[in-house]
Amino acid sequence: MFFIKRALTWIAIGLVATPVLGQDLLAHQAPVDKKMRAVDSVALQRLFMQEDLEDPAADLYPNWEDRFINAFGDVELPKEYKIDLRDFAMPTTNRIVTSKYGYRPRFRRQHKGLDINANRGDTIRSAFDGKVRIVEYQPGGYGNVVVIRHPNGLETIYGHLSKHLTQKGSIVKAGEPIGLAGNTGFSKGTHLHFETRLLGEYIDPAKLFDFANQDVTGDFYIFKGHGRGTILGKHVADAEDKQTDLAQAEEGEDVSYEEDASNSKAAREARAARNTQFHKVRRGETLSSIAKKHRTTVAKLCRANGLTKRSKLRVGQILKYS
Ligand SMILES: [Zn+2]
Repeated sequence: MFFIKRALTWIAIGLVATPVLGQDLLAHQAPVDKKMRAVDSVALQRLFMQEDLEDPAADLYPNWEDRFINAFGDVELPKEYKIDLRDFAMPTTNRIVTSKYGYRPRFRRQHKGLDINANRGDTIRSAFDGKVRIVEYQPGGYGNVVVIRHPNGLETIYGHLSKHLTQKGSIVKAGEPIGLAGNTGFSKGTHLHFETRLLGEYIDPAKLFDFANQDVTGDFYIFKGHGRGTILGKHVADAEDKQTDLAQAEEGEDVSYEEDASNSKAAREARAARNTQFHKVRRGETLSSIAKKHRTTVAKLCRANGLTKRSKLRVGQILKYS
């Protein structure tokens, strides 16, 4: 935001200067071009984040299967995988862990998650941004359960819910309500059964989430296979950071307001760049299918991207449209 603001100051200087000639024009042009690039990369960033949500952790998972919780075929676990925990939300505000992860002699089996105390009807929230893979009722097991796959590679599982508040295929934000706490399935007493997995491999959620302190254990967790891993970076509760972010966002809005009010060529171009949208070409797509999808025409697409109607598209190619 700061960069854009500075670039706009340059544009403003260009506007007040009396007749801009030759050299001057070039000098003033440079920051505008730079700004365009900055805006482009912001929009691209947004596109990639969106794609990450539509097909989360595509580098890790071989498929998107919405009938079975465990369905990854014979894919090998990575030797090491860095899981970004920074943009988390606590699944519940409850702080008391009533049953830990690990072997339970009483049931002679592994407890594959954490049980967190809850009251019936408490809101249960997605731990990260992600896409909902499974929403179902398993009478003898999880009861009402939600499974979400996240761009950071994790899948999170929320069991024994009294009610689902989401659907298969939904894209959810960290902290978005996905269900209400309950006592359905193989459960005695209302609680949240919470699991964290990577490609079907269980990770003790307590290695990632500190329910007592309502925080993550670190900024990253380096998964190193079967029960091993390390925490990287101390997560610092960042109320202050969030305040700063907010202040910056507000500052940004002011800037664009001023800019929008101007009808100079530079302002119009900047506005056009900001409104530019991008499309990443997928397998099987054609100029006309892409044009249709974004409610534009093949001719406009061609013009915006320097293509002809007969140009061959590559999978992964980025096209502008607006
Ligand atoms: Zn449990």
